[in-house]
Amino acid sequence: MATPDPPWTAHRRRARALGERYPHATQVLGVYLALVDAWDDAWRECREERPAPAGLAAWAASRVVPRVVKATEASGPEPLVVGCREVSDPERPLAAWLAGEEQPPVERYLARASLYPALVALDEAAGDACRDVQVAPGLDPRDAASQGGRRCPRCGGPPQLTWRDASGEALVSARRRLLCARCGHGWAFSASACPSCGETAGAKRTVYGETHEGTVIGPSSEAPSTVEFPHLRVDACATCERAWRESSGGVDSRVQSADPRPA
Ligand SMILES: [Zn+2]
Ligand SMILES: [Zn+2]
Repeated sequence: MATPDPPWTAHRRRARALGERYPHATQVLGVYLALVDAWDDAWRECREERPAPAGLAAWAASRVVPRVVKATEASGPEPLVVGCREVSDPERPLAAWLAGEEQPPVERYLARASLYPALVALDEAAGDACRDVQVAPGLDPRDAASQGGRRCPRCGGPPQLTWRDASGEALVSARRRLLCARCGHGWAFSASACPSCGETAGAKRTVYGETHEGTVIGPSSEAPSTVEFPHLRVDACATCERAWRESSGGVDSRVQSADPRPA
């Protein structure tokens, strides 16, 4: 059976559309596009070779990290390029990312960018390579119910953002979903709870959007042109003092978020 194409066609299209609209983001989107090119081969090789879960960090350190470093050198900011070159033993930060440990930004970038295509390729088996140390003892990190739905049901990883697809109706909000920071899997989540701590009290949660003149009802092209990011909101929680980006595909399908952006 022929191997399917890597699943990043829509990602490239979206990054190019965003680059045309937001020139100030050209460099970071350039890094992203270079990474997507690097992910193609890594994804194919991981599907063919099926590295053992316990050896995934070592496999990606030797097979994917060099490509990620090369892509970063070709398009990234100098501090990130220098930082990547200074990581002498990449298997260590990659293993730490799979274990859910806190990491310095450059190591986290290298680990996320290198492991993402492999975890996507492993699909349902991605969770076998992940053992999150931040999950309470005795709980399976992949047991979504035990985490109140705040952890990825596939790999136990934390969410990185929330998004909503188009509902198709002006006054109806689409279902809210979370996107895994580790394996890219998406899952449904309560619209009225904080993705970090589960807080549901409305008084503790505030949603921020860009201000504009007049009233706009529902997701639409009616958003005034003075709003630069009509598809983005920030959902802030006073209980855990965290804030979440939320992207709405109902406002602009070209910029709907459905993939991690290691940065
Ligand atoms: Zn995941
Ligand atoms: Zn919270």
